Amino acid sequence: MVTELNLTRSEAAYEAAKRRLVGGVNSPVRAFGAVGGTPPFIRSASGAHITDIDGNTYIDYVASWGPMILGHAHPDVVAAVQAACARGSSFGAPTEAETELAALITEAFPSMERVRLVNSGTEATLSALRLARATTGRDLLIKFEGGYHGHVDALLVSAGSGAATFGHPTSAGIPDDAVAGTAVLPYNDAHALERFMSDRGDEVACIIVEPVAGNMGVVAPVEGFLEALRRECDAHGALLILDEVMTGFRVALGGAQERLRLRADITTLGKIIGGGLPVGAYGACAAIMDNLSPLGTTYQAGTLSGNPLVTAAGIATLERLKCEGFYDRLEATSARLADGLRAAAATVSAPVTPARVGSMLTLFFSERPVTNYAEAKACDVERFARFHRGMLARGVYLPPSPFEAWFVGASHTEADIGRTLEAAEAALKAS
Ligand code: PMP
Repeated sequence: MVTELNLTRSEAAYEAAKRRLVGGVNSPVRAFGAVGGTPPFIRSASGAHITDIDGNTYIDYVASWGPMILGHAHPDVVAAVQAACARGSSFGAPTEAETELAALITEAFPSMERVRLVNSGTEATLSALRLARATTGRDLLIKFEGGYHGHVDALLVSAGSGAATFGHPTSAGIPDDAVAGTAVLPYNDAHALERFMSDRGDEVACIIVEPVAGNMGVVAPVEGFLEALRRECDAHGALLILDEVMTGFRVALGGAQERLRLRADITTLGKIIGGGLPVGAYGACAAIMDNLSPLGTTYQAGTLSGNPLVTAAGIATLERLKCEGFYDRLEATSARLADGLRAAAATVSAPVTPARVGSMLTLFFSERPVTNYAEAKACDVERFARFHRGMLARGVYLPPSPFEAWFVGASHTEADIGRTLEAAEAALKAS
Protein backbone atom coordinates (compact mmCIF):
# COMPACT_ATOMS: atom_id res chain seq x y z
CA MET A 1 0.00 0.00 0.00
CA VAL A 2 1.35 3.40 -0.94
CA THR A 3 0.13 6.15 1.26
CA GLU A 4 0.39 9.62 -0.25
CA LEU A 5 3.34 11.47 1.15
CA ASN A 6 2.42 14.38 3.34
CA LEU A 7 4.99 17.09 2.66
CA THR A 8 2.97 20.07 3.90
CA ARG A 9 5.69 21.40 6.18
CA SER A 10 8.44 20.73 3.67
CA GLU A 11 6.45 22.65 1.05
CA ALA A 12 6.21 25.67 3.37
CA ALA A 13 9.87 25.37 4.34
CA TYR A 14 10.84 25.19 0.67
CA GLU A 15 8.88 28.35 -0.14
CA ALA A 16 10.54 30.16 2.76
CA ALA A 17 13.96 28.84 1.74
CA LYS A 18 13.50 30.04 -1.84
CA ARG A 19 13.13 33.59 -0.60
CA ARG A 20 16.49 33.46 1.18
CA LEU A 21 18.63 30.82 -0.55
CA VAL A 22 19.16 30.47 -4.27
CA GLY A 23 16.61 27.92 -5.42
CA GLY A 24 16.00 27.12 -1.75
CA VAL A 25 19.19 25.07 -1.42
CA ASN A 26 22.94 25.30 -0.88
CA SER A 27 23.89 22.68 -3.47
CA PRO A 28 21.89 22.38 -6.71
CA VAL A 29 20.97 18.67 -6.78
CA ARG A 30 19.11 19.03 -3.48
CA ALA A 31 16.38 21.01 -5.27
CA PHE A 32 15.09 17.77 -6.90
CA GLY A 33 15.21 19.41 -10.35
CA ALA A 34 15.77 16.09 -12.12
CA VAL A 35 12.87 14.31 -10.47
CA GLY A 36 10.37 17.09 -9.70
CA GLY A 37 8.35 17.67 -6.56
CA THR A 38 9.23 19.15 -3.21
CA PRO A 39 12.47 18.01 -1.57
CA PRO A 40 11.70 16.72 1.93
CA PHE A 41 13.31 19.01 4.50
CA ILE A 42 15.18 16.88 6.99
CA ARG A 43 14.73 17.07 10.73
CA SER A 44 16.94 14.23 11.92
CA ALA A 45 18.49 10.94 11.03
CA SER A 46 19.65 7.85 12.85
CA GLY A 47 21.41 4.80 11.43
CA ALA A 48 20.06 4.11 7.93
CA HIS A 49 16.90 6.15 8.45
CA ILE A 50 16.22 9.79 7.79
CA THR A 51 13.16 11.72 8.97
CA ASP A 52 11.65 14.86 7.44
CA ILE A 53 9.89 17.73 9.17
CA ASP A 54 6.48 16.23 8.33
CA GLY A 55 7.43 13.11 10.25
CA ASN A 56 7.98 10.82 7.23
CA THR A 57 10.84 8.38 7.75
CA TYR A 58 12.77 6.93 4.83
CA ILE A 59 15.46 4.31 4.32
CA ASP A 60 18.34 6.54 3.21
CA TYR A 61 20.64 5.66 0.31
CA VAL A 62 21.96 9.21 -0.19
CA ALA A 63 24.02 9.02 3.00
CA SER A 64 24.88 12.71 2.63
CA TRP A 65 26.28 11.74 -0.80
CA GLY A 66 28.64 9.19 0.66
CA PRO A 67 30.15 10.23 3.99
CA MET A 68 27.72 8.39 6.30
CA ILE A 69 29.11 4.89 5.78
CA LEU A 70 28.51 4.05 9.48
CA GLY A 71 24.97 5.42 9.36
CA HIS A 72 23.70 8.70 10.76
CA ALA A 73 24.48 9.88 14.28
CA HIS A 74 26.73 6.93 15.06
CA PRO A 75 27.28 7.02 18.85
CA ASP A 76 31.10 6.95 18.56
CA VAL A 77 31.10 9.87 16.14
CA VAL A 78 28.60 11.87 18.17
CA ALA A 79 30.60 11.37 21.37
CA ALA A 80 33.89 12.27 19.68
CA VAL A 81 32.50 15.49 18.18
CA GLN A 82 30.78 16.52 21.41
CA ALA A 83 33.98 16.03 23.38
CA ALA A 84 36.05 17.91 20.79
CA CYS A 85 33.57 20.78 20.69
CA ALA A 86 33.72 21.14 24.46
CA ARG A 87 37.50 21.55 24.18
CA GLY A 88 37.16 24.33 21.60
CA SER A 89 35.99 24.22 18.01
CA SER A 90 38.87 25.84 16.15
CA PHE A 91 42.34 27.08 17.01
CA GLY A 92 44.09 27.72 13.70
CA ALA A 93 47.11 26.03 15.28
CA PRO A 94 48.45 22.48 15.13
CA THR A 95 46.71 19.66 17.01
CA GLU A 96 47.70 16.02 17.56
CA ALA A 97 44.39 14.89 16.09
CA GLU A 98 45.50 16.08 12.63
CA THR A 99 48.49 13.74 12.75
CA GLU A 100 46.26 10.94 14.03
CA LEU A 101 43.80 11.33 11.14
CA ALA A 102 46.66 11.62 8.65
CA ALA A 103 48.15 8.40 10.07
CA LEU A 104 44.85 6.54 9.60
CA ILE A 105 44.78 7.78 6.01
CA THR A 106 48.38 6.94 5.17
CA GLU A 107 48.10 3.45 6.73
CA ALA A 108 45.16 2.70 4.45
CA PHE A 109 46.68 4.45 1.40
CA PRO A 110 50.40 3.59 1.21
CA SER A 111 50.75 5.84 -1.87
CA MET A 112 50.05 8.82 0.43
CA GLU A 113 53.20 9.34 2.44
CA ARG A 114 52.22 12.90 3.41
CA VAL A 115 48.74 14.37 3.63
CA ARG A 116 47.28 17.88 3.52
CA LEU A 117 43.81 18.28 5.04
CA VAL A 118 41.41 20.75 3.40
CA ASN A 119 37.70 21.50 3.70
CA SER A 120 36.01 19.90 0.69
CA GLY A 121 36.60 17.54 -2.19
CA THR A 122 36.70 20.50 -4.54
CA GLU A 123 39.53 22.05 -2.58
CA ALA A 124 41.40 18.75 -2.65
CA THR A 125 41.20 18.36 -6.43
CA LEU A 126 42.03 21.96 -7.27
CA SER A 127 45.03 21.80 -4.95
CA ALA A 128 46.12 18.46 -6.41
CA LEU A 129 46.08 19.97 -9.90
CA ARG A 130 48.20 22.90 -8.79
CA LEU A 131 50.64 20.52 -7.13
CA ALA A 132 50.83 18.32 -10.25
CA ARG A 133 51.49 21.34 -12.45
CA ALA A 134 54.13 22.63 -10.04
CA THR A 135 55.84 19.24 -9.76
CA THR A 136 56.01 18.57 -13.50
CA GLY A 137 56.47 22.16 -14.69
CA ARG A 138 53.75 21.43 -17.28
CA ASP A 139 50.25 22.82 -17.78
CA LEU A 140 48.05 20.34 -19.67
CA LEU A 141 45.43 18.31 -17.78
CA ILE A 142 43.42 15.32 -18.91
CA LYS A 143 40.00 14.48 -17.50
CA PHE A 144 37.30 12.12 -18.67
CA GLU A 145 33.83 12.90 -19.96
CA GLY A 146 31.25 12.40 -17.21
CA GLY A 147 33.85 12.53 -14.43
CA TYR A 148 33.14 15.08 -11.71
CA HIS A 149 35.87 16.46 -9.51
CA GLY A 150 34.12 19.35 -7.79
CA HIS A 151 33.44 22.84 -9.12
CA VAL A 152 37.02 23.66 -10.10
CA ASP A 153 37.16 26.05 -13.10
CA ALA A 154 39.63 23.92 -15.07
CA LEU A 155 37.55 20.79 -14.53
CA LEU A 156 34.05 22.09 -15.31
CA VAL A 157 34.44 21.24 -18.96
CA SER A 158 32.80 18.79 -21.28
CA ALA A 159 34.01 17.39 -24.58
CA GLY A 160 33.40 19.51 -27.62
CA SER A 161 31.47 18.24 -30.61
CA GLY A 162 32.83 15.46 -32.77
CA ALA A 163 36.43 14.57 -32.20
CA ALA A 164 37.41 17.89 -30.58
CA THR A 165 39.46 17.10 -27.52
CA PHE A 166 39.46 20.52 -25.91
CA GLY A 167 35.95 21.35 -24.81
CA HIS A 168 33.80 24.11 -23.43
CA PRO A 169 33.15 25.28 -19.89
CA THR A 170 29.98 23.69 -18.50
CA SER A 171 29.25 26.68 -16.27
CA ALA A 172 28.79 30.34 -16.98
CA GLY A 173 31.51 32.50 -15.49
CA ILE A 174 34.45 30.32 -16.51
CA PRO A 175 36.74 31.97 -19.04
CA ASP A 176 37.66 29.85 -22.07
CA ASP A 177 41.27 30.32 -20.98
CA ALA A 178 40.59 28.46 -17.73
CA VAL A 179 39.69 25.28 -19.63
CA ALA A 180 42.06 25.75 -22.57
CA GLY A 181 44.59 23.47 -20.87
CA THR A 182 42.10 20.68 -20.13
CA ALA A 183 41.70 17.81 -22.57
CA VAL A 184 38.49 15.80 -22.18
CA LEU A 185 38.60 12.18 -23.28
CA PRO A 186 35.97 9.42 -23.19
CA TYR A 187 35.99 7.26 -20.03
CA ASN A 188 36.92 3.64 -20.55
CA ASP A 189 38.58 4.28 -23.92
CA ALA A 190 42.27 3.39 -23.62
CA HIS A 191 42.86 3.91 -27.35
CA ALA A 192 41.66 7.52 -27.28
CA LEU A 193 44.05 8.16 -24.41
CA GLU A 194 46.97 6.46 -26.13
CA ARG A 195 46.38 8.51 -29.28
CA PHE A 196 46.30 11.74 -27.31
CA MET A 197 49.41 10.86 -25.33
CA SER A 198 51.37 9.98 -28.42
CA ASP A 199 50.62 13.50 -29.79
CA ARG A 200 50.83 15.63 -26.65
CA GLY A 201 51.98 13.35 -23.81
CA ASP A 202 55.13 15.32 -23.09
CA GLU A 203 53.05 18.44 -22.31
CA VAL A 204 50.74 16.64 -19.89
CA ALA A 205 51.08 17.47 -16.19
CA CYS A 206 48.48 14.99 -14.99
CA ILE A 207 45.54 12.77 -15.68
CA ILE A 208 42.72 13.05 -13.13
CA VAL A 209 40.22 10.21 -12.96
CA GLU A 210 37.55 8.74 -10.74
CA PRO A 211 38.96 5.18 -10.67
CA VAL A 212 35.40 3.93 -10.32
CA ALA A 213 33.16 6.56 -11.86
CA GLY A 214 30.38 7.63 -9.51
CA ASN A 215 29.14 10.87 -10.98
CA MET A 216 27.59 9.54 -14.19
CA GLY A 217 26.01 6.81 -12.12
CA VAL A 218 28.32 4.01 -11.06
CA VAL A 219 30.49 2.93 -13.99
CA ALA A 220 33.27 0.43 -13.35
CA PRO A 221 36.51 0.78 -15.28
CA VAL A 222 36.76 -1.79 -18.09
CA GLU A 223 39.67 -4.21 -18.08
CA GLY A 224 42.87 -2.46 -19.06
CA PHE A 225 41.62 1.14 -18.90
CA LEU A 226 43.22 2.21 -15.63
CA GLU A 227 46.33 0.19 -16.42
CA ALA A 228 46.65 2.21 -19.64
CA LEU A 229 46.46 5.46 -17.63
CA ARG A 230 49.24 4.27 -15.35
CA ARG A 231 51.39 3.12 -18.26
CA GLU A 232 50.93 6.33 -20.29
CA CYS A 233 51.69 8.52 -17.28
CA ASP A 234 54.91 6.60 -16.62
CA ALA A 235 55.92 6.67 -20.27
CA HIS A 236 55.48 10.46 -20.53
CA GLY A 237 56.44 11.68 -17.07
CA ALA A 238 52.88 12.77 -16.22
CA LEU A 239 51.26 12.28 -12.79
CA LEU A 240 48.19 10.13 -12.19
CA ILE A 241 45.70 11.72 -9.81
CA LEU A 242 43.18 9.23 -8.49
CA ASP A 243 40.19 11.20 -7.31
CA GLU A 244 38.98 8.99 -4.49
CA VAL A 245 36.76 11.61 -2.86
CA MET A 246 33.88 9.14 -3.35
CA THR A 247 35.65 5.77 -3.52
CA GLY A 248 38.17 6.35 -0.70
CA PHE A 249 37.29 4.18 2.35
CA ARG A 250 34.14 3.27 0.39
CA VAL A 251 34.98 0.48 -2.08
CA ALA A 252 37.70 -0.82 0.26
CA LEU A 253 39.56 0.61 3.26
CA GLY A 254 42.31 1.68 0.86
CA GLY A 255 39.83 2.83 -1.77
CA ALA A 256 39.79 1.89 -5.43
CA GLN A 257 43.58 1.83 -5.54
CA GLU A 258 43.58 -1.06 -3.07
CA ARG A 259 40.60 -2.83 -4.63
CA LEU A 260 41.93 -2.52 -8.18
CA ARG A 261 45.64 -2.68 -7.30
CA LEU A 262 46.55 0.57 -8.95
CA ARG A 263 49.34 3.00 -8.02
CA ALA A 264 48.41 6.67 -7.65
CA ASP A 265 50.87 9.53 -7.80
CA ILE A 266 48.48 11.91 -6.05
CA THR A 267 45.25 10.90 -4.30
CA THR A 268 42.32 13.13 -3.38
CA LEU A 269 39.91 12.23 -0.60
CA GLY A 270 36.86 13.74 1.07
CA LYS A 271 33.45 12.58 2.29
CA ILE A 272 34.04 9.53 4.61
CA ILE A 273 37.29 10.84 6.13
CA GLY A 274 35.30 13.66 7.77
CA GLY A 275 32.60 11.40 9.22
CA GLY A 276 29.90 13.80 7.97
CA LEU A 277 31.71 17.07 8.66
CA PRO A 278 33.22 19.22 5.89
CA VAL A 279 36.52 17.80 4.73
CA GLY A 280 38.91 17.01 1.91
CA ALA A 281 42.49 15.78 1.73
CA TYR A 282 45.19 15.19 -0.79
CA GLY A 283 48.41 13.32 -0.54
CA ALA A 284 51.31 11.70 -2.35
CA CYS A 285 54.89 10.62 -1.73
CA ALA A 286 57.03 13.05 0.26
CA ALA A 287 59.01 14.12 -2.81
CA ILE A 288 55.82 15.46 -4.44
CA MET A 289 54.16 16.79 -1.30
CA ASP A 290 57.29 18.64 -0.19
CA ASN A 291 56.70 21.04 -3.08
CA LEU A 292 53.89 22.50 -0.95
CA SER A 293 54.30 25.52 1.25
CA PRO A 294 55.74 25.80 3.95
CA LEU A 295 58.47 23.50 2.56
CA GLY A 296 58.10 24.33 -1.11
CA THR A 297 56.90 27.08 -3.37
CA THR A 298 53.38 25.79 -4.18
CA TYR A 299 50.90 27.75 -2.09
CA GLN A 300 47.76 26.36 -0.50
CA ALA A 301 46.27 27.23 2.90
CA GLY A 302 43.05 27.17 4.93
CA THR A 303 41.71 28.96 8.03
CA LEU A 304 39.68 25.95 9.12
CA SER A 305 41.77 23.15 7.60
CA GLY A 306 42.30 20.26 10.02
CA ASN A 307 39.51 21.59 12.21
CA PRO A 308 39.20 19.72 15.54
CA LEU A 309 35.54 18.74 15.08
CA VAL A 310 36.30 17.31 11.65
CA THR A 311 39.34 15.37 12.78
CA ALA A 312 37.39 13.97 15.77
CA ALA A 313 34.56 12.76 13.50
CA GLY A 314 37.02 11.45 10.93
CA ILE A 315 39.13 9.51 13.42
CA ALA A 316 36.05 7.97 15.08
CA THR A 317 34.75 6.91 11.67
CA LEU A 318 37.97 5.48 10.25
CA GLU A 319 38.63 3.53 13.45
CA ARG A 320 35.31 1.69 13.00
CA LEU A 321 36.09 0.89 9.37
CA LYS A 322 39.22 -0.99 10.45
CA CYS A 323 37.07 -3.55 12.35
CA GLU A 324 37.54 -7.10 11.07
CA GLY A 325 35.06 -8.01 8.34
CA PHE A 326 33.59 -4.51 7.94
CA TYR A 327 33.95 -4.41 4.15
CA ASP A 328 32.93 -8.04 3.71
CA ARG A 329 29.65 -7.35 5.47
CA LEU A 330 29.11 -4.18 3.45
CA GLU A 331 29.83 -6.09 0.24
CA ALA A 332 27.30 -8.79 1.15
CA THR A 333 24.55 -6.28 1.96
CA SER A 334 25.25 -4.34 -1.24
CA ALA A 335 25.26 -7.50 -3.36
CA ARG A 336 21.93 -8.52 -1.88
CA LEU A 337 20.48 -5.14 -2.87
CA ALA A 338 21.85 -5.28 -6.43
CA ASP A 339 20.80 -8.91 -6.95
CA GLY A 340 17.37 -8.16 -5.54
CA LEU A 341 16.95 -5.17 -7.84
CA ARG A 342 17.88 -7.33 -10.82
CA ALA A 343 15.30 -9.93 -9.76
CA ALA A 344 12.62 -7.29 -9.11
CA ALA A 345 13.22 -5.77 -12.53
CA ALA A 346 12.91 -9.18 -14.17
CA THR A 347 9.67 -9.92 -12.33
CA VAL A 348 7.99 -6.80 -13.69
CA SER A 349 9.95 -6.75 -17.02
CA ALA A 350 11.42 -3.32 -16.32
CA PRO A 351 14.21 -2.25 -18.73
CA VAL A 352 16.77 -1.42 -16.04
CA THR A 353 20.28 -2.61 -15.21
CA PRO A 354 21.90 -2.36 -11.78
CA ALA A 355 25.58 -1.46 -11.70
CA ARG A 356 27.56 -1.94 -8.50
CA VAL A 357 31.11 -1.65 -7.23
CA GLY A 358 31.31 -2.40 -3.52
CA SER A 359 28.68 -0.33 -1.72
CA MET A 360 28.21 2.13 -4.61
CA LEU A 361 25.25 1.27 -6.79
CA THR A 362 23.18 2.78 -9.60
CA LEU A 363 20.04 1.41 -11.19
CA PHE A 364 20.45 2.50 -14.80
CA PHE A 365 17.25 2.93 -16.75
CA SER A 366 18.80 1.17 -19.69
CA GLU A 367 18.52 -2.41 -20.89
CA ARG A 368 22.24 -2.66 -21.49
CA PRO A 369 25.16 -2.09 -19.11
CA VAL A 370 26.55 1.46 -19.15
CA THR A 371 30.28 1.91 -19.77
CA ASN A 372 30.64 5.63 -20.44
CA TYR A 373 28.94 9.00 -20.26
CA ALA A 374 27.30 8.85 -23.69
CA GLU A 375 25.58 5.60 -22.70
CA ALA A 376 24.62 6.99 -19.29
CA LYS A 377 23.01 10.02 -20.91
CA ALA A 378 20.94 7.77 -23.18
CA CYS A 379 19.05 6.33 -20.16
CA ASP A 380 15.33 6.95 -19.68
CA VAL A 381 15.42 9.92 -17.32
CA GLU A 382 11.63 10.42 -17.29
CA ARG A 383 11.07 6.89 -16.15
CA PHE A 384 13.75 7.28 -13.51
CA ALA A 385 11.94 10.39 -12.23
CA ARG A 386 8.66 8.43 -11.88
CA PHE A 387 10.53 5.60 -10.16
CA HIS A 388 12.20 8.05 -7.78
CA ARG A 389 8.86 9.58 -6.79
CA GLY A 390 7.40 6.09 -6.33
CA MET A 391 10.27 5.09 -4.06
CA LEU A 392 9.98 8.25 -1.97
CA ALA A 393 6.25 7.62 -1.50
CA ARG A 394 7.11 4.08 -0.38
CA GLY A 395 9.65 5.29 2.18
CA VAL A 396 12.94 4.97 0.28
CA TYR A 397 15.13 8.04 -0.15
CA LEU A 398 17.28 7.73 -3.29
CA PRO A 399 19.57 10.28 -4.90
CA PRO A 400 17.30 12.62 -6.88
CA SER A 401 19.17 12.15 -10.15
CA PRO A 402 19.67 9.18 -12.48
CA PHE A 403 23.42 9.92 -12.63
CA GLU A 404 24.30 9.42 -8.98
CA ALA A 405 25.46 6.58 -6.80
CA TRP A 406 23.28 5.07 -4.09
CA PHE A 407 25.33 4.35 -0.99
CA VAL A 408 24.83 1.28 1.17
CA GLY A 409 26.09 1.62 4.72
CA ALA A 410 26.87 -0.54 7.73
CA SER A 411 23.54 0.37 9.31
CA HIS A 412 21.34 -0.98 6.48
CA THR A 413 19.78 -4.14 7.90
CA GLU A 414 18.37 -7.20 6.13
CA ALA A 415 14.94 -5.76 6.88
CA ASP A 416 15.88 -2.43 5.25
CA ILE A 417 17.06 -4.20 2.12
CA GLY A 418 13.92 -6.37 2.05
CA ARG A 419 11.65 -3.33 2.35
CA THR A 420 13.67 -1.50 -0.31
CA LEU A 421 13.28 -4.40 -2.74
CA GLU A 422 9.53 -4.63 -2.16
CA ALA A 423 9.24 -0.90 -2.80
CA ALA A 424 11.43 -1.17 -5.90
CA GLU A 425 9.36 -3.92 -7.45
CA ALA A 426 6.17 -1.92 -6.94
CA ALA A 427 7.72 1.38 -8.07
CA LEU A 428 9.25 -0.20 -11.20
CA LYS A 429 5.89 -1.72 -12.08
CA ALA A 430 4.13 1.60 -11.62
CA SER A 431 6.77 3.63 -13.51
N1 PMP B 1 35.46 14.43 -6.58
C1 PMP B 1 34.52 13.48 -6.62
C2 PMP B 1 34.83 12.15 -7.23
C3 PMP B 1 33.25 13.73 -6.08
O1 PMP B 1 32.31 12.78 -6.14
C4 PMP B 1 32.99 15.00 -5.51
C5 PMP B 1 31.64 15.36 -4.92
N2 PMP B 1 30.63 14.49 -5.06
C6 PMP B 1 34.01 15.95 -5.49
C7 PMP B 1 35.23 15.62 -6.02
C8 PMP B 1 33.80 17.30 -4.88
O2 PMP B 1 33.65 17.19 -3.50
P1 PMP B 1 32.93 18.36 -2.67
O3 PMP B 1 31.48 18.30 -3.04
O4 PMP B 1 33.19 17.99 -1.24
O5 PMP B 1 33.57 19.64 -3.05
